Amino acid sequence: MADTVQPVTMDTIVSLCRRRGFVFPSSEIYGGLGSTYDYGHYGVLTKNNIRSLWFRAMVQEREDIVALDSAIILNPSVWEASGHVAGFNDPLVDCRTCKLRFRADQLELASCGRKPSKRPGETPDCDLTEPRQFNLMFETHVGALQDESSAAYLRPETAQGIFINFKNVAQLARRKPPFGIAQVGKSFRNEITPGNFLFRVREFEQMEMEFFVPPADAMQWFGYWLEQRLGWHRSLGLRESNLRVREHDDSERSHYSSATSDIEYLYPIGWQELEGVANRGDFDLTQHTQHSGTKLEWIDPDGNRYTPHVIEPAVSIERIFVALLCDAYHEEVVGDRERVVLRLHPQVAPVKAAILPLVPRDEGMATRARALYEELRRHHVVEHDDSGQIGRRYRRQDEIGTPWAFTVDEQTLQDETVTVRDRDSLAQERLPIGGVRSWLDDALERDWSSPSSG
Ligand code: ATP
Repeated sequence: MADTVQPVTMDTIVSLCRRRGFVFPSSEIYGGLGSTYDYGHYGVLTKNNIRSLWFRAMVQEREDIVALDSAIILNPSVWEASGHVAGFNDPLVDCRTCKLRFRADQLELASCGRKPSKRPGETPDCDLTEPRQFNLMFETHVGALQDESSAAYLRPETAQGIFINFKNVAQLARRKPPFGIAQVGKSFRNEITPGNFLFRVREFEQMEMEFFVPPADAMQWFGYWLEQRLGWHRSLGLRESNLRVREHDDSERSHYSSATSDIEYLYPIGWQELEGVANRGDFDLTQHTQHSGTKLEWIDPDGNRYTPHVIEPAVSIERIFVALLCDAYHEEVVGDRERVVLRLHPQVAPVKAAILPLVPRDEGMATRARALYEELRRHHVVEHDDSGQIGRRYRRQDEIGTPWAFTVDEQTLQDETVTVRDRDSLAQERLPIGGVRSWLDDALERDWSSPSSG
């Protein structure tokens, strides 16, 4: 098997996503809406898997973290207190020549609108304005009146919904620091320069966890969470060589943070933030205490009061989704045939197994394949495919990352066994048809690392 892997480009991933119905440009029949996407069947399944793997690691398998689902539109005072109204800005510059708009702090990553495209400011013709601050929150109005008193915002992060519920959760869930609150949900940012497919979009799904700790233990927990999160990305099969940690220097860190590190992934656009881990100190709880008048503090059994410090790992499903697809994408020549294969972790793969009758018009094979499919689909997302040559059917599954295919063939009719084909090694073995369900259950729980790790 000859591996003819080229470094994958974002265009290759975009085109696979489109071709196989993972992700479509949104509102396409109306000409689209810049950098907005809709997820098709396989995209939804993959996103569900990422979300539930995160939830399993962050909530289900821990005793010290509970779940929350707060509203998207909160009382606007929340965003005054959090500092977002005054300071959730990016510096924006306009080019008077090409009429495009750029982030002043990311000019080196941008291309201007003229051909051949250059970095904004690179040619004498570029005529950039002075940077001005642009608030990234989307404004809306609540109720029938559209005046200042009804103005509200779509949340730009899920974290604030957690902080304002600190008291509710600490009391009702009977948790004491160190403990965490985890939330998954949509966030909205009116990014100046969205792009690079799902990497920077205006509407994305964040997975955030706020971990409340005694102040003296904050840095120790910060180190702990950085390691945990890095380990989680590795457990999804992301290759070690494509992951690194980058510590923010003083100039980059938010004013309230005493430590921030990004877990970066080597995307086709270079090393970029996949997940941020921050020590937010007591900033948020203190701000909400001051603005709301409700004390968000902890009183220990001896009556000592303190405002817990907060460690926050925050990531979007979109950035994981792109990283996983880039890591998994391979073009290979097998025999004399090319195949595109997504070597996704089986728990991430949208479809867990394909059930294929070798000769669909053979009634014995068709009936057994159908019965196996109906048994398996009660437990896992599986597909039954009986159209086209078997080789083509395998390739269709390889391209969406289906880890195993069960083929019902001549021999099945004689000894009630099926072939199981492994997506990565292409090895085939025979299994009793009655044992397929438990074989698949076990296979899905096995540790997995990318065969490309070398
Ligand atoms: P960046 O510097 O790339 O704009 P950020 O530091 O503003 O990101 P955070 O506010 O720390 O991002 O958000 C936490 C996480 O949310 C990020 O690590 C990333 O995974 C995700 N995220 C942030 N903005 C976007 C976006 N526009 N599209 C997709 N995911 C995003």
